[in-house]
Amino acid sequence: MADRRPADEGLKERLSRTEKELAEARAALEREERSHQTLADDHTVAEAALRQSEESFRVLFAQNPQPMWVFDPDTLRFLEVNDAAVAHYGHPRERFLEMTLADIVPTAEVDAFMRQVTRAGSSYQPSGTHRHQVAGGRIMEVELSSHRLEFGGQPAVVTAVKDVTMQRALERELRHQALHDPLTGLSNRALLVDRIQRSLNRLDRHAGAVAAIFVDLDRFKLINDSLGHDVGDRVLTETASRLRAAIRQEDTVARFGGDEFVICAEVIDADEAVGIAGRALESLTPPFRHDGHEMLLTGSVGVSVAAVASATPETLLRDADWAMYRAKEEGGNRVELFDRGLRSRLLARLEMERSLRRALGGDEMRVLYQPIVSVPDGRVVGAEALVRWFHPKHGVIGPAEFIPVAEETGMIAPLGAWVFEEACRQWVSWRRKAGRREPINLAINVSARQLTVPSTFDTFYDILSRTGADPAHVSLEITESVLMEGNDSILEAMLALKWLGVRLNLDDFGTRYSSLSYLRRLPFDTLKVDQSFVSGLRDDSRDQAIVRSVVGLAHALGLDVVAEGVETPEQFSLLGEMGADRAQGYLLGRPVEADDFPFDTLMLVGAGPTP
Ligand code: C2E
Ligand code: MG
Ligand code: MG
Repeated sequence: MADRRPADEGLKERLSRTEKELAEARAALEREERSHQTLADDHTVAEAALRQSEESFRVLFAQNPQPMWVFDPDTLRFLEVNDAAVAHYGHPRERFLEMTLADIVPTAEVDAFMRQVTRAGSSYQPSGTHRHQVAGGRIMEVELSSHRLEFGGQPAVVTAVKDVTMQRALERELRHQALHDPLTGLSNRALLVDRIQRSLNRLDRHAGAVAAIFVDLDRFKLINDSLGHDVGDRVLTETASRLRAAIRQEDTVARFGGDEFVICAEVIDADEAVGIAGRALESLTPPFRHDGHEMLLTGSVGVSVAAVASATPETLLRDADWAMYRAKEEGGNRVELFDRGLRSRLLARLEMERSLRRALGGDEMRVLYQPIVSVPDGRVVGAEALVRWFHPKHGVIGPAEFIPVAEETGMIAPLGAWVFEEACRQWVSWRRKAGRREPINLAINVSARQLTVPSTFDTFYDILSRTGADPAHVSLEITESVLMEGNDSILEAMLALKWLGVRLNLDDFGTRYSSLSYLRRLPFDTLKVDQSFVSGLRDDSRDQAIVRSVVGLAHALGLDVVAEGVETPEQFSLLGEMGADRAQGYLLGRPVEADDFPFDTLMLVGAGPTP
């Protein structure tokens, strides 16, 4: 400042003068303001507060992007609505302010709404989910939250509105997807289980029963595999709508995946449930037409019924599944009702399957041998190997009981291989002891299912070479039912076995649909006349005629004949007369342990039964 030039001196003076004037003016103003405030102090504070509350009201209410309104809890009339509410509900502000809350409730729901309001009295504060109708008529779902406040000097309620229409629709869609089958739109397993549980719960209060009806399409896989998945899908969709049409509105049909459908119905008793099941099955009868294909479908239907609330959806479904399985076993296109007998039969079977596995691993299985006798001279020329199960608890079990279980469970291949090896070893052991005597011929039964297992040929080849049994003295016995299945792979397997050098016996001839073409096409060596014809030989001339012509036919085709089930000397001599080559039966010897096999007994015509 010391070096400031003289021209600046004038400026400095002017500045300080202006500052002084300004300070005086400010002081005068403050004095004036102070006097004003003293005059109307209370009034000013109130106005400032009002300005402030009006400001926050403007920000929080009027400009809020969320629809809001203020209403009179006594009249339900809107006292104030914000811009967002006007936009959202579509009513012009003036019109809005003439309306009450009841005017935005869908017409059909006004009564219920008013009852709710009346119950709450003047303390009514809407909250939670509501349905509102906008000016165009569209219904929206909203979530409301309300607070009490003073408005224009009187008690009022301010409500904020959240439109949740889209969100709820999405939630519903997701819930639907989680509980329904995407292909058919039917309920899925989860939803059905829930429905069954609800129905079961109701049994506490109402008499009656809950039915689960399991519908499984027969041979659906054939349609899928031969006509393609598109046609398969359309068949399933149509099945779904046919089933839905066949049941009552209040019943539920669900798809369990694949070609399995389950109906849940509240019924009076099992009869009604079976009636519904029958209608469901009938609905499948009209041909299905898709893509130029006409398909005839049937179903296997299992019904289970629970009359106590303590039942569980799981057991009900499991029982219905078992009954369905039974219907399928019986050939399909039928309704089976589950009962405890069925359950215990199935359980017994499961138990048998388990213990069959154990038996094969241990030494509970044994092979017995029944002599086969030459009819003309009564000599023992062969044996049939017949398996027995010496069960530690149930005693001796015959093959008729457990072979079918072994067949169904895939145990037949290891069981059949075991019998084959056991019998081959026995043949070799007998052969060694027999010295120069002509070896006997050993017949071993082979199951159809065993033949469809591709490894059977290798297994048999391996066993024959390991044991050293002579295939020329081994016969495999196959029953006619095998051939009935018309399965080419079975025929091929038989031809392959023949290649091993073994002989083939056609077992139980005459019991099923005999077809002479089998005899022509397949390289059988021996035909075994079923015991049902032999047992009738004495008094029934028809059986005589049948056996006589079967013997003639077999001989004409170059086969020899074994008569099964010979029990009386009379039958034996008649068979001799008819020209049967060999005979087997209790008269000539029961199945026995290998050590007890009657090699040296000469079976004489007319001899009494062996002990
Ligand atoms: P199958 O091959 O026709 O065997 C003859 C059945 O008739 C045997 O019953 C035998 O004990 C019985 N039998 C023999 N003589 C008489 C008689 O004079 N009167 C009466 N009433 N019955 C007689 P088993 O041993 O109970 O065998 C039943 C069926 O089980 C057999 O019929 C055969 O098809 C099957 N089987 C037996 N062992 C095996 C095996 O190791 N594997 C396979 N896959 N099946 C076998
Ligand atoms: Mg047999
Ligand atoms: Mg037989």
